[in-house]
Amino acid sequence: MTARSVTVIGLGPMGQAMAAAYLDRGYEVTLWNRTPARAEALVARGARLAATVEEALQANELAVLSLTDYAAVDAILGQAPHALKGRTVANLTSDTPARVREGAEWLAVHGAVQITGGVQVPPPGIGSPDSATYYSGPADAVEAHRAALEVLTSVDYLGEDSGLAALYYQIGMDMFWTGLVGYLHGQAVARANGISAEQFLAHAVKTMDFKYFLEFYAPRIDAGHHEGDVDNLAMGVASLEHVVHTAEASGVDASLPTAVLDLFRRGVAAGRERDSLTSLTTLLER
Ligand code: NDP
Repeated sequence: MTARSVTVIGLGPMGQAMAAAYLDRGYEVTLWNRTPARAEALVARGARLAATVEEALQANELAVLSLTDYAAVDAILGQAPHALKGRTVANLTSDTPARVREGAEWLAVHGAVQITGGVQVPPPGIGSPDSATYYSGPADAVEAHRAALEVLTSVDYLGEDSGLAALYYQIGMDMFWTGLVGYLHGQAVARANGISAEQFLAHAVKTMDFKYFLEFYAPRIDAGHHEGDVDNLAMGVASLEHVVHTAEASGVDASLPTAVLDLFRRGVAAGRERDSLTSLTTLLER
């Protein structure tokens, strides 16, 4: 165990990128993965493959975990709970905030500390200071391991609550999935009309740049100020009806914009037809 040594558990695309980043920076890297063959290229570069989870945990004070979900975390750490005492687990596996808090409590019972991470970039972004990861959990543990965490990405520390990084991550994924599927839907309509995704690319980039809208609406959302001075739900309903009809006329599945149209219509039915689309937050928050 040296100051510049780390255990990486989980060798999906993300864990592989993380282990490679540590090797790039001269760390001694111990690996464990359910499917050992996925370690081959890293072992060829000098990483050590542990035979058991116990051996992997005992090799270093810091273990970085990157797994599909916390069911996988449980399946792995449950093989060697006695080896966790005194360890810090930087768990960069995504799951719900509640599941992540349970995981942190389970580790505490076994004498280990969890730092929760929510990585904000795909694997090629690992190893770059321009990339960021949400972190939460004990501040002293994050500070003690800051140098090792910063090998992966910059550290965006949010606070002591272990679930906080997971919450920020899931809020981001909420916007990411719905926003990106919106993009795909638009491209389906474009392609149905003979316009390629490449042809539309420059327009898509402009349309998907929501910075102006986010900065305009954020203070209004917080203030509960939903005045329809620049947009209103009645206008939104008319616009969305055009979107749905254009998709249908193009032979494209219109269930996505139809769901958004239904939400706008519920806002109108709730008496908000002259209010901004931000008033939908009052419906969504139930
Ligand atoms: P994967 O789903 O590909 O991770 C697979 C890893 O989890 C492998 O090591 C796999 O082992 C292991 N695993 C899964 N189930 C089990 C189990 N039951 N028991 C033991 N091991 C198991 O994900 P990624 O590598 O892409 O991502 C890892 C984490 O990072 C995820 O939580 C993801 O949400 C998050 N993330 C991913 C991003 C991305 O772009 N990929 C971006 C940001 C965050 P085996 O090799 O044996 O199958």
